[in-house]
Amino acid sequence: MIGRALLLFVLTLGATAPAVAAGRTARLVLIATGGTIANDPHGRLSADELVEQLPGRASLGQITTESFANASSTALSLDDWSRLSRHVTSILTATDAPDGVVVTSGTDTLEELAWFLHLTVPGPRPVVVVGAMRRPGTLGEDGPRNLADALRVAAAAVSRDRGTLVVMHGQVHSAWSVRKHHTTSLSAFDEAGGVSAGAVTAGRVTYRPSAVVRPAPGLLQIATDVTLPRVDILETYQGADGDLIEAAAGAGAAGIVIAGAGAGSLTPSQATAARRIARAGIPVVVASRTGDGLVGPVGGEDVGLVSAGALSPLRARLLLILALARQTPIEEIGRLFASVSAANSGLRPIAGGRSR
Ligand code: ASP
Repeated sequence: MIGRALLLFVLTLGATAPAVAAGRTARLVLIATGGTIANDPHGRLSADELVEQLPGRASLGQITTESFANASSTALSLDDWSRLSRHVTSILTATDAPDGVVVTSGTDTLEELAWFLHLTVPGPRPVVVVGAMRRPGTLGEDGPRNLADALRVAAAAVSRDRGTLVVMHGQVHSAWSVRKHHTTSLSAFDEAGGVSAGAVTAGRVTYRPSAVVRPAPGLLQIATDVTLPRVDILETYQGADGDLIEAAAGAGAAGIVIAGAGAGSLTPSQATAARRIARAGIPVVVASRTGDGLVGPVGGEDVGLVSAGALSPLRARLLLILALARQTPIEEIGRLFASVSAANSGLRPIAGGRSR
């Protein structure tokens, strides 16, 4: 038993990422969407140009390129993401599926894209999202290194069954907890809790034995061309008025996420508005603006308030969008959040509920 555990540990930590999968050259698909990684001062680089600039590219595998978009991450719509998800799914579920898919993206909303793809693209083959903090041709540009690392991660057998991953600055991050925490630093990405899922060191891909992959990739696949509903995020701050919650609902939001203070506290005015909206059938999910930790029961579950658990406001919003797109009844939305949150964090609400 101990011997087996030790072997697994060594395999996980020691496996390298040759551009060879199952004894043959790895086959990868690179899908470019734009962002700083492609933002050359002379015009945005195409997917082909991104690969051409990589030193030793032949050793990275057989790479097929596609240009999906060439825009800033914030300029892409949810419909674009939905199309992208269905396209990646069709590539990875084909009979002759490649070993993995790499998606280049602007970094500003990259953590949201990674979570969206994790929830909507099934395994076992990896999807790797990558960007750059410095533009091509600038001093210390990080795009080529990040892209080469991402291709290695996508080719590595040890990356299977891990869903969507993010590769930046030599680190491999899980879609569950990666976040952009700095405006300009080369190491602008980290994970809540401070520990990354893995690393790429001199072309070698390693994962921590403790890196968890849940929920299962593709939990909420998008089968058809559905329009994803509007869900807004509002924040709690001193004196925050509930009017904005009502305004979001009035503007057509099908659901609302509140980035509450601490473990999910709302102002009295927000709490009143949230209950009123939830009672009218618009789910309100309460998350935390702190960036880490758990929101326990929110004390309005009876009328349709839902705790985001360990999900950040951004992740809670995407989960709610996908749940609503599948017409999930309001009572089941609470259960969905509880199971996705518990599956990932290992944290459970403290018995006795709210701390406020
Ligand atoms: N504005 C850019 C974007 O998110 C930033 C980047 O790519 O780093 O598209």
